[in-house]
Amino acid sequence: MPVTPSVLVLFIAGVIGFIGIVRMSEPGFIFLLDHANLLFHEAGHPITGIFSQRLEPYGGTVGQLFFPGLLMVSFWRKGRPLALAVAMIWFSENLLNISRYMADARKLDLPLVGGGDHDWNTIFARWNILQFDDRIAAGIKATGWVGIAAALVWVLWRAWCDRRARG
Ligand SMILES: [Zn+2]
Repeated sequence: MPVTPSVLVLFIAGVIGFIGIVRMSEPGFIFLLDHANLLFHEAGHPITGIFSQRLEPYGGTVGQLFFPGLLMVSFWRKGRPLALAVAMIWFSENLLNISRYMADARKLDLPLVGGGDHDWNTIFARWNILQFDDRIAAGIKATGWVGIAAALVWVLWRAWCDRRARG
């Protein structure tokens, strides 16, 4: 599907609205979207646990990035630039969600589903980098925003290409 000017305007309006929702729910939880992320996160732990007990703490993060990542690859291969951008934004929003969890590694304030272990407390303690939790979280958060910006630039660029192709 070509990125026509009207599609572009709709997309940009959608992204601005989405950023508004993300900013408004800062530093909390985005309704529905983060529920879906949490579902994939929670599925990721036991699935990873089947293969390795040691990797199980990473499984949640891998799980919540897996589906948007898979969609990105699929839309890229199908040549669907807009859908790819939406999947990119979902992936990036997951990074914002993950950074929130990372930043909590020492504070341990976030309510945990099932009352189990705190993934990032476990992982950072294992690597002996617990004191850097806020800095690592800030880096992941910045990466998430760069990803959202990149999706926007990608769609703008595609719109420009399609405009040139139409002449
Ligand atoms: Zn987890």
